[in-house]
Amino acid sequence: MLRSELPDLHFGTLNHCLWQAEQAECTRHLPEAERGAPLIGACQPARCRNSAVTAAHAPIWLAEQHDLTERLRDRRLLAARRAALRARLDDIKPITTALTQDL
Ligand code: SF4
Repeated sequence: MLRSELPDLHFGTLNHCLWQAEQAECTRHLPEAERGAPLIGACQPARCRNSAVTAAHAPIWLAEQHDLTERLRDRRLLAARRAALRARLDDIKPITTALTQDL
């Protein structure tokens, strides 16, 4: 049934992609003629409106949040590296917050 409702659904380990080309973040910078399929390697699960994160994906997101938090505790981090890790953590927090809201 899901397949008939969402024929372009792609299942993934970080999220599921509902694939609507006009909303895709991963292909945004490609020429229009090349935007025919999801670019899984450039997926933006936290930003794309095609991204569906389910409870089944929670362990990997929570593990990444934990890893980033631990790495940010290192006082020896270079400023640029710290900024990149902080940006990534800020990016995933809406997802981890939503995933843990009902726990
Ligand atoms: S960014 Fe990810 S969720 Fe969005 S269309 Fe591309 S592959 Fe799908």
